[in-house]
Amino acid sequence: MPLPPSEPLLAVEGLRVSFAGAEAVRGVSFDVHPGEVLALVGESGAGKSLTGRALLGLAPRGAAVSGRVLLRGAPVTSADLGRRLAWIPQDATASLSPVHRVDAQLAFAARTSTGRRRGAALAVARRALAEVGLAGAVASAYPHALSGGMRQRAVIAMALVNGPDLVVADEPTTALDAERRDQVLALLRERCAAAGAALLLVSHDLESVRRHADRVAVMYAGRIVELGAAEVVWGRPAAPYTRGLLASLPTAGLPHRSRLPSFEGVPRLSAVGCAFAPRCPRADALCRGEDPEPRAYGDRLVACHHPREAAA
Ligand code: SF4
Repeated sequence: MPLPPSEPLLAVEGLRVSFAGAEAVRGVSFDVHPGEVLALVGESGAGKSLTGRALLGLAPRGAAVSGRVLLRGAPVTSADLGRRLAWIPQDATASLSPVHRVDAQLAFAARTSTGRRRGAALAVARRALAEVGLAGAVASAYPHALSGGMRQRAVIAMALVNGPDLVVADEPTTALDAERRDQVLALLRERCAAAGAALLLVSHDLESVRRHADRVAVMYAGRIVELGAAEVVWGRPAAPYTRGLLASLPTAGLPHRSRLPSFEGVPRLSAVGCAFAPRCPRADALCRGEDPEPRAYGDRLVACHHPREAAA
């Protein structure tokens, strides 16, 4: 796994998102480096999808967003979306228009965002489709004539058609079975690498992340609790929440455990102290009185008063 070079492609600094005063993302900071795959993981409601949307300027109506998002050192603007930044939303295949041919839809994206002429945009669209294995009559078909897997490929081609610096993919494979999920993510990663684009993968699918991410940021209750190289965080988790999350993965020969073992209770967001304290077996008075800030712990960042590295 490559170590990130010093100059970040994307820098997210102190991102906060709140609704009517209630914070759903609470001061999230991380970098994405050129060409890498960074995964944002956590349970439903951890704030990972909202983080992905907010950094693209796509937070839902009514959200108050603060913090800085820099792309190659300059603030992200709405003009970056669709060109330098691409977004693959949840259930992206449903966003393909049923009344337009697939290549025409990609050509439209290639024209409106860059000002290409019609013929040039169509050529770019067909090349992007061919690169994901959709060529000839298949590229010119209507979405309903394609299989689910083909539509997934078309969505990937759509994201990459304008040569973005970064693709943000929000649970891109939720509706697929495990085998197809892995194929689609492998293709997405391969095409991003070939195009020189970094990938921010928002996912609760820990198995896929383990296979496809270079680095992992684990989120809980709107904060990043552990961030580091995937083999470090997955192999030797230091935050109690990460350990619980990994313990929920199926083990060979054992039945799949779908919830965090031994962790009861709910996040504590309004009170002082660590939000994980009601569920954490290591919680003490310090945890209940003071919210831990992310700190360097060996080769990673951990937001925990009592980090302890252990084999997963
Ligand atoms: S700060 Fe305390 S309660 Fe929070 S995760 Fe660490 S040990 Fe657990």
